[in-house]
Amino acid sequence: MTTEFSRPHVAYFGYKNGELAVENVAISAIAAKYGTPFYVYSAAAVRERVAKLRAALDGLDIQICYAVKANNNLSLLSLLVNEGCGMDIVSDGEMQRALTAGAPAGKIVFSGVGKTDEEIAAALNAGVHQLNVESIEELDAISRVAGKIGKVATVVLRVNPDVDALTHPKITTGTSKNKFGIAYADAVNTYAAAAARKEINMVGIAVHIGSQITDVAPFRQTFERLAQLTQAIRAKGLTISRLDLGGGLGVSYDGSAGIDVIAYAQTIRETLGDSGCALTIEPGRFIIAEAGALVAKVLYGKNQGNVKFSIVDAAMNDLMRPALYDALHPVWPVREPAADAEALPVHLVGPVCESSDTFGEFDHLPALERGDLVMLGVAGAYGATMSSTYNARPLIQEVLVEGDSFRLVRRQWTVEDALALERDL
Ligand SMILES: *Cc1c(COP(=O)(O)O)cnc(C)c1O
Repeated sequence: MTTEFSRPHVAYFGYKNGELAVENVAISAIAAKYGTPFYVYSAAAVRERVAKLRAALDGLDIQICYAVKANNNLSLLSLLVNEGCGMDIVSDGEMQRALTAGAPAGKIVFSGVGKTDEEIAAALNAGVHQLNVESIEELDAISRVAGKIGKVATVVLRVNPDVDALTHPKITTGTSKNKFGIAYADAVNTYAAAAARKEINMVGIAVHIGSQITDVAPFRQTFERLAQLTQAIRAKGLTISRLDLGGGLGVSYDGSAGIDVIAYAQTIRETLGDSGCALTIEPGRFIIAEAGALVAKVLYGKNQGNVKFSIVDAAMNDLMRPALYDALHPVWPVREPAADAEALPVHLVGPVCESSDTFGEFDHLPALERGDLVMLGVAGAYGATMSSTYNARPLIQEVLVEGDSFRLVRRQWTVEDALALERDL
């Protein structure tokens, strides 16, 4: 039987001399130094994603604000700052990370449906580029906080364009059933009312319709609606100078096509190129997903009836996407399978006491033995950032590869770190 084993389909990940490497570093070398499990990122892959997007957007007046929630590791943020990216944040914690990583406040966009008064004050004091506002009550809060500290808040209104992003329901955000944004029909009136407030400098409109969108059509629909809104706002005699197009650009988890960024950029040119507004996009996943992976070690194998399980030392608390969104990450054995090796069906699971602690059922893996390493690919986005300490498991290490070298960019959160929060009060 000939078998097509799953091989990395993403840049800077591949087999070299019979084993999996990231750039020029063998995964086994990282595992030998730091132990498993760990996240690993390729600096070159991150830079390449930014360059690819920027090349596609050439000629547009557009700022890339990386969505920090996709992966907020300080070293990755500072790498992105060096690449000229601004940041899209959704909490004060993310703002502190972005500022610590060297992001200029003037390139930070504060999104999110539930900002606290403290977060609003912190953002105004830091001098962020804009607050993306999602409700009339939030406008009230911003007016009040800004008035109290003697500032004028620069505000963009997030509108819900009621467009279906054609992605997983749990990552759809732009239909009228979702909690996000101001209803499209109310947008112009809300904009006018906000613009009349003296504590608010109303400058534009924002949208974000969802995540992992691989079809350009929903983006086109959304951007056409944005263009119409811009005209309607100007027709009322109001000014509008900024449009924030959100993120959501989808990637390839299984080797099929991700978003076509050339077509995406062309859609922006055609719908908003002559809007006269400064544009922002907020991609998270597109920039970081394919540049990262989770490496785990096989602890045990066992057969239950006809099902073969491989139990690895990473779990749902380290990578939550399979349990949360039914996501399937590709699994690549770290030792390159021999050409004549046989593929076996295997159910790859973690040690956590939940049946949802599974990475999925695979039929393209060679026999895995105790001690073998496996890589769960395309895990750079919504991986480490979503991790928890469930089952009192420590947050795992993160490693950044650059060319021939690698370094720790987050150490393991030890049991001592955890106990200190409850003991040293
Ligand atoms: C999550 C989020 C993003 C990033 O989404 P991706 O799918 O990772 O590109 C951008 N903007 C807002 C407002 C978000 O909530």
